[in-house]
Amino acid sequence: MSSLTASVLVERIAQSNLPKVDFKNLEFGKYISDHMLLAEYKNGQWQTPRVVPFGELKMDPGILALHYGQAVFEGMKAYRMNDGNISVFRAYKHHQRLNRSLDRMCMPAVPEEIFINGLHTLLETDQAWIPNGEGSSLYIRPLVFASESRLGVKISDLYKLVIMTSPVGPYYSKPLRVKVEETYVRAAEGGVGFAKCAGNYGASFYPTKMAREQGYDQVLWTDARDHQYIDEAGTMNVMFVLNNKLVTPKLTTAILDGITRDSILTLAKELNMEAEERKVSLDDLVDGFKNGTLTEAFGAGTAAVVSNIEVINIHSKDYQLPKAGPESFQQRVKQKLYSIRHGNEPDTHQWNYVIPIK
Ligand SMILES: *Cc1c(COP(=O)(O)O)cnc(C)c1O
Repeated sequence: MSSLTASVLVERIAQSNLPKVDFKNLEFGKYISDHMLLAEYKNGQWQTPRVVPFGELKMDPGILALHYGQAVFEGMKAYRMNDGNISVFRAYKHHQRLNRSLDRMCMPAVPEEIFINGLHTLLETDQAWIPNGEGSSLYIRPLVFASESRLGVKISDLYKLVIMTSPVGPYYSKPLRVKVEETYVRAAEGGVGFAKCAGNYGASFYPTKMAREQGYDQVLWTDARDHQYIDEAGTMNVMFVLNNKLVTPKLTTAILDGITRDSILTLAKELNMEAEERKVSLDDLVDGFKNGTLTEAFGAGTAAVVSNIEVINIHSKDYQLPKAGPESFQQRVKQKLYSIRHGNEPDTHQWNYVIPIK
């Protein structure tokens, strides 16, 4: 442990903000923990990361991230295990995805030791911020952005890595009404849809706002060419139970390779559910509704883990799904993920990065 912290400098906050936090009422993203991790990239390499008090960064309005969009992020979670230790869910996998996103945006990879050791030290420093209430966790937001100031269009030579965290309560999500998007596009093959880059979100706001005005919570994105095949749901991957099989769109460069998606596909086998990654057409869904073989639909992502979908609007017609009770696949897999993260069952896939608390 001591060698881990040795490579990360720690500057502690003078006075903790913890007393201001109402842990019984954790609105998503409302509170930011005392410290953040900060690392700079210059002279062709990442410099020693530091844990510093969370606060403003001084920036020039000319920084390239603001003008040309070199900004990439991650979203992950740490949990309080029932033995008091901390587990970060699939930390290495998130680190690998961060580097894939960075690569697509011509941004420098973050070395594993900087990411993992930095995160480890940050969470040790802010361990009191990790809630232990049922369904609560610490949301972790790594961010990398171009920090060189230059008006010309160019690949930045300077970057910053920031990791900030926020305690979050149980994510209550009411069943979602989603609308199949047949006009707007989130991502086209060959573009940046698979990268967790900031611009993908900016681009999704307008169609999502339109869908909200029509009474839907999210859009179901379809392929950019024909709007015939499902890509994903808003900011989550989407999964269906069709003919008693777990079915999810096969990954393309237009789909974000979700870690919740991957985990659920892995756990399906253990829950005796056959899983299939393939193209899912709108016709498959309409047929499934008509003959009653489409029995479940849900979004999968770090924030909500599993978000039940109750209505899908296809070609301007609302189709209703049956209620997802405790015996549904989505409820069972959500429960299994919960048990693994909190150490209630063996972590056979080595998904938990455990930080021992002395
Ligand atoms: C982050 C994200 C997801 C879900 O990925 P997880 O790794 O499961 O959190 C799905 N779709 C989009 C567009 C995302 O940005």
